Amino acid sequence: MYRLNEKIRELKPYDPIRGSYRVRLDANESFRPMPASIRKKLADAAASVTFNRYPDPLASELCESFARYYGVDPAFVTAGNGSDELISVLTGAFLMKGDAVMTLVPDFTMYRFYTGIDENRCFEFNKKPDFTIDVDEVIGAVKRYNIKMLIFSNPCNPTGVGLKREEVRRLVRSVDALVVLDEAYMDFWDQTMLREAGEYDNLVILRTCSKVFGMAGVRLGFAVANTVITNALKAVKSPYNVNAFTQKAGAVIYGEKEWAESSVREIVASKDALYSELKRLAEDFPEKLSVSESVTNFVLIRTREAERLYGALLEQGVAVRLLNGFLRVTAGSAEENAEFMRALRSAL
Ligand SMILES: *Cc1c(COP(=O)(O)O)cnc(C)c1O
Repeated sequence: MYRLNEKIRELKPYDPIRGSYRVRLDANESFRPMPASIRKKLADAAASVTFNRYPDPLASELCESFARYYGVDPAFVTAGNGSDELISVLTGAFLMKGDAVMTLVPDFTMYRFYTGIDENRCFEFNKKPDFTIDVDEVIGAVKRYNIKMLIFSNPCNPTGVGLKREEVRRLVRSVDALVVLDEAYMDFWDQTMLREAGEYDNLVILRTCSKVFGMAGVRLGFAVANTVITNALKAVKSPYNVNAFTQKAGAVIYGEKEWAESSVREIVASKDALYSELKRLAEDFPEKLSVSESVTNFVLIRTREAERLYGALLEQGVAVRLLNGFLRVTAGSAEENAEFMRALRSAL
């Protein structure tokens, strides 16, 4: 009789919130609708796809468009089917079976998930109670446990806290481990390491099209690293990982600098407004809520009533993300933020 192996036997498919809710602030997506002029360019690009042929395995035109947008060398860029795919390629191929990998806690849970599938030993390093990272302690732990890969998000999902560039630099320079720096939210902050990625022999930076670019639906992410790492990544990924539609769509969207920059401004303004309102609400309910500042497009609420409030919000048609002892709320349009605040006030 065939039996599933024990590392996958208990796994369940990823299950985001189902059902239709009026206000979706649970997945850190962009709330901005794509302008008609860009939708037209995307439609034209889709119509020009050569359907009977395999796509470009290196996604060259797409990588050049991305590289131009961020001012990096296209030779440092690899495209992936979402940055999620790149995380799995990195943990799968850049570690030998049984190698030690370190994640920081709390952080994006997918890191831990992929290291489990790949049978790596995973060390979880706890952040300080205010969710900042003690870089010296991390450096010490990486050396002590002979860590081969350190992976974390900066700014962090779900905390919203960022680590300054000077500290990231010090960390990368002080360890021999490969540092996988997930900058999924760095479009909302100004501490990117992208422009110096090629100078390190142990740094891979991940970026995504899913947040500020408003293209979570097309599945597109990037890795930026020196040419040795980049060539290895391109050699081990599956050849046609980014489909022809997505390659064309991505090449279009990274050419829309003005639109992207206006999205950054609007989304950050929305997050600032949401944070201020939540802070005011927390002052009315000091024993129930507290909020911390965020350099991303979401705000984390600390509350002992997370589950109850989450349910009460859903009943009012508002979806947020439930975490253990926290609610994570994505910055939405002014109307969505107002609906969320109204629903939260009434739930309290
Ligand atoms: C949203 C997010 C991503 C993006 O993943 P994609 O697969 O590119 O959609 C990556 N890392 C973190 C921490 C995220 O929150």
